[in-house]
Amino acid sequence: MSESGLPDRLRRDGHAVFKNSLHANGWLEKGELVRDPVRLDGLARAQAASIQTHWPTADLIVGASQCGAVLAAFVARHLALPVAFVNLQDGQMTFHRMNVPASPQRVVLVDDLISTGTDARLMVAEMRRAGHTVVGLSVWTVRQTALLPEVPLLTLWPHPYQTFSASACPQCAAGEAVRWEQVRE
Ligand SMILES: [Zn+2]
Repeated sequence: MSESGLPDRLRRDGHAVFKNSLHANGWLEKGELVRDPVRLDGLARAQAASIQTHWPTADLIVGASQCGAVLAAFVARHLALPVAFVNLQDGQMTFHRMNVPASPQRVVLVDDLISTGTDARLMVAEMRRAGHTVVGLSVWTVRQTALLPEVPLLTLWPHPYQTFSASACPQCAAGEAVRWEQVRE
């Protein structure tokens, strides 16, 4: 684990090109944790503790399928709060039928990594449209270039890598070969 608390096993150092065509000097492989429930639970416990401290009035934890939903269930279990799962597709959000809140809730959105912020913005907008209050967003870390929704944010660590447009990528400028292609963080 690095000084910031970021587990080293997530790190993928080097010139990376994302599916969305942005470049970076590295990326995080969340599969290293998500596929390992014991390790995943360590982070879920940290997120739950932080939510309990900052947002004690939250009454529903929400995560987007698939990895976000699994993580949300782990976090909610530590808080002894109900959980709801949402699907995001084509700019629409739908609650999974196992929990469609009938009354306005104080929602905490839980996710692992935020890269662009597109899904987080959609979730916040749709939650509000459905009459819920979004208390905040709890995630492991956020890329500095992400465009976040205007809600309180809790993160576990600063993001260790920088993101660039292809034309502004210093590694491209230095003629450095791409090490990771078609990355989706
Ligand atoms: Zn580049």
